[in-house]
Amino acid sequence: MSGSEVDLFVIGGGSGGVRAARIASSHGAKVMLAEEFRMGGTCVIRGCVPKKLLVYASRYREEFEDAAGFGWSREEPTLDWSALVAAKEREITRLEGAYQRTQENAGVTVVKTRAVIEDAQTVRLVNTGERVKAKHILVATGGRPNMPTLPGVEHAINSNEVFDLPTFPKRIVIAGGGYIAVEFAGIFAGLGSEVTLIYRGENILRGFDEDMRIGLRDAYQRRGIRILLGDTFTSIEKTADGLSAKTAGGETLHADQVMFAIGRSPNVDDLGLETAGVALDRDRAIIVDEMSRTSVPTIYAVGDVTNRVNLTPVAIREGHAVADNLFSGASITIDYSNIPTAVFSTPEIGTVGLTESEARARHRIVDVYRANFRPMKATLSGREERCIMKLLVDGETDKVLGCHILGEGAGEMSQILGIVMKMGATKADFDRTMALHPSSAEELVTMRTRAARFEQS
Ligand code: FAD
Ligand code: NDP
Repeated sequence: MSGSEVDLFVIGGGSGGVRAARIASSHGAKVMLAEEFRMGGTCVIRGCVPKKLLVYASRYREEFEDAAGFGWSREEPTLDWSALVAAKEREITRLEGAYQRTQENAGVTVVKTRAVIEDAQTVRLVNTGERVKAKHILVATGGRPNMPTLPGVEHAINSNEVFDLPTFPKRIVIAGGGYIAVEFAGIFAGLGSEVTLIYRGENILRGFDEDMRIGLRDAYQRRGIRILLGDTFTSIEKTADGLSAKTAGGETLHADQVMFAIGRSPNVDDLGLETAGVALDRDRAIIVDEMSRTSVPTIYAVGDVTNRVNLTPVAIREGHAVADNLFSGASITIDYSNIPTAVFSTPEIGTVGLTESEARARHRIVDVYRANFRPMKATLSGREERCIMKLLVDGETDKVLGCHILGEGAGEMSQILGIVMKMGATKADFDRTMALHPSSAEELVTMRTRAARFEQS
């Protein structure tokens, strides 16, 4: 490429950015993409992918234990944390290379540098100072973990560092009650740490269905995770054998690591957005319309930097749509309804559609179907374990409004339920589907007795 004129300049080589760049290039556009850290972005380098690998690692402990109930004898297995971290690193390095090659094979020019916006159609490459003229700019810079302001916070870690800890934390305290805090509490408990989860509210996973929140809290407590509710940290100190953290509720917690997972903020600092006139909201997310257009006509934004639904598949869909809209004459908008999502805790939560409280706020009559059972595997393993499934149905149209599952395979089930709900399935459709036996999922099509009906007068 001659260097300084492109049809599309993409800032950020994460989920949204790489998809937009590749698709734009496939439509014949001249594309340059800048990535300041590692290709693949949060999801590949320090998010979904390494997280799921650690989730797999963490589940072996219970598998080893459960095996005894099925006749296996075993020796006490041990974890080599360094070997796990090294294996994880090899895999994400492989993926990083694959992302780089996919871009290059698609004809995208990848520059490994920070990029900043100079004006509505100019981007500056920070490493060389080169200015690139662009007909369109796409900001796909993602987000970063929030840290609180409190004495000793510099001793604490967040999700950026947790994947590469030099030594395994035998005791870890995790602050937060959202996806990341809950997932890492499960990971470290499974790997053998003594885990405390500290959350400011009345129960973890605000925004999820109540039955899932209660079910997971109970399951975590059964697994030995200590959950401190209605409390926050006030200070952290280094001690001779680790860290000592004080809470507003008067507790002193001793740990090898203190991790904050208290939300993320859009990466917009020093990006030149204000100079270019790009409007931000109160949380400093870029304001976009339904076509991901910012307040500046030549500048677009997708993914976490817009703080719409902060999930990888959403960022990918948004990036793809921007490329199609700009370079193939399409007018695609994203449908944000019924997005399936999972919390990769152990046990796992899988969910799609409305929670019970959302359904009751939006629909006149809501029927609730609930199953709470001991999964078959637990009979021989002897593990005290429950699987909870819940369907919310519109009492007037019979349409299924929400499906919530706590238990093994919940995430995988929710992906399929997402299709079912996109097609507008009714409870009668579930009922006339033949059960697959023996499975946990068969409960979804055999829940005949309504647990409750809520009717607004
Ligand atoms: P990102 O993937 O964050 O990419 C942004 C890129 O821009 C980064 O590589 C960054 O280095 C680069 N960048 C920033 N500023 C500049 C600049 N000025 N110049 C050049 N480059 C720049 N989502 C799921 O769907 N499922 C999960 O299981 C899941 N697990 C997660 C676990 C964790 C621990 C975390 C933190 C997130 C998880 N997510 C998950 C969320 C998911 O990672 C994000 O929603 C997704 O990565 C957003 O994609 P993006 O393109 O908006 O940004
Ligand atoms: P979340 O927004 O999910 O959760 C943040 C948590 O931190 C909430 O419990 C919140 O409490 C709490 N919190 C916020 N501010 C403070 C504070 N000042 N002090 C104490 N607690 C605080 O953010 P995460 O960081 O967990 O994850 C970021 C996003 O990444 C997720 O929302 C999700 O979109 C994505 N993600 C998706 C995953 C998946 O799909 N499996 C996995 C991991 C991340 P409160 O509820 O009271 O506000």
